[in-house]
Amino acid sequence: MADEAVDETGEDAEGGVQATEEAARSDSKEAGEADKGGPHAEADGHGAPDKSPRRTEEHRPHQRAEVSNYEIVSHWFGRAAERLELRDDIAAVLRSSYREVQVQVPVKLQDGRIHVFSGYRVQHNGARGPYKGGIRYHPEVDLDEVRALAELMTWKTAIAGIPYGGAKGGVNVDPKKLEEHELQAVSRSFMDKIEKVLGPTRDIPAPDVGTDAQVMAWFMDEYGKLHGHTPACVTGKPIALEGSYGREAATGRGVVYMFCEAAPQLDLTPSDARFVVQGYGNVGSWAARLMHELGARMVGASDASGAIRDEDGIDVDALVRHVREGGSLPEFDGAEEIDPEDLLDIECEVFIPAALGGMIHKHNADRLRCRMMVEGANSPTTPAADEILEDKGIMVVPDVMANAGGVVVSYFEWVQNLQHFRWDEHEVNERLGRIMRKAFREVSERAREAGMPLRTAAYELGIERVVDASRTRGYIS
Ligand code: NAD
Repeated sequence: MADEAVDETGEDAEGGVQATEEAARSDSKEAGEADKGGPHAEADGHGAPDKSPRRTEEHRPHQRAEVSNYEIVSHWFGRAAERLELRDDIAAVLRSSYREVQVQVPVKLQDGRIHVFSGYRVQHNGARGPYKGGIRYHPEVDLDEVRALAELMTWKTAIAGIPYGGAKGGVNVDPKKLEEHELQAVSRSFMDKIEKVLGPTRDIPAPDVGTDAQVMAWFMDEYGKLHGHTPACVTGKPIALEGSYGREAATGRGVVYMFCEAAPQLDLTPSDARFVVQGYGNVGSWAARLMHELGARMVGASDASGAIRDEDGIDVDALVRHVREGGSLPEFDGAEEIDPEDLLDIECEVFIPAALGGMIHKHNADRLRCRMMVEGANSPTTPAADEILEDKGIMVVPDVMANAGGVVVSYFEWVQNLQHFRWDEHEVNERLGRIMRKAFREVSERAREAGMPLRTAAYELGIERVVDASRTRGYIS
């Protein structure tokens, strides 16, 4: 099937975004679970039993962003709402969440003690369809962050034109420090606490930072104990459990489709482009593989453990194998280790932030030496940093459209599950390409006509669509 995808990619072949998950799966058979903390997890990972929430600002030692993720999303919403001359009362409805659930997730861990994690599910706006959004496992997750990410999903699904509202969830747990059975216990316990507000026509979770297809499988199984077998209750599931071909690579692939659309505006040829990836996880490594396939050269990369660079190009596939086998980026033989902050100084054409929010901020944005930034991560750039990038003439393809590939293929998975039917990977990738290109063209036309940045144009388009649906339903008048 991988060959078929290469031969028949059709319109997609222009961009050459062809590497398939099937090929990757055969690559990864031996990789096993090496990236889990497993038996080598640090003992302090199970530290204080109470993991209840803390304020965002107090708990972000590595991140010097001057604002929280929530303030970032609120800023962009406010700017677009003002331009659209949205009435204050309507803006107030759209700013606030429909429902915010916070639950206690008590789990007995290996040390024999009960640890209390905090779990969240925020449903921001459901005017355009069931709530949709990922679930994040990260020690810094809090309500403020989940709220911001849920709102971002509302605008993202509207910009992509798929029939969903916006939601997000999370648990303040570090998955790398848990044994697999502990992670399973956290996942089942969390699902037990939030299943009442979920369901295939209500709210459909998916993977995000720190969660993957295995976690989705546990969620589906737990949900099924109460409601019967319901594959459409979560997306991003393993292929063996009615997951969709193409879902794992979808966000990175979407990022690359966006790059291909934007490149001509800067007279950039993909095969001449050098790129840097900040955050070599799911989104970052897939974007890297597909950029590499277009002939672009990766000259820098980072993850939570450090950063590397090589002017002559880093072997993207070898790095993927190295990470899968449990290696950290600084241990990779084929490149020079650098300070993670120095990653931003690397001269390149494209910088792809694909880690966490707020990593490009007012104290480091000036260091960037790229011509274009395609935001794989959610809210990687603070508003102050965005202004700096604009002054430097760096084109930004914003998160709210650039990383929509994941939710688009999640939508395909849901559609396939509801029909108990499966599309092949080629069909998924081609449909994804069509939706991403359409979103880019609609946003960029609006930006060009009004002489405004892509981000403002994208927010305006998303907000207009949600207002329209809300009015038509009679939810606002
Ligand atoms: P992931 O957990 O697979 O990868 C995250 C990567 O970021 C890891 O390699 C991690 O080591 C790295 N990282 C963490 N802290 C870092 C730091 N301080 N410096 C450099 N790297 C750091 O998660 P993912 O699914 O790839 O998500 C990455 C981003 O993309 C997140 O912002 C997420 O919300 C966003 N996103 C993901 C999807 C999806 O489908 N997975 C969809 C849309 C948006």
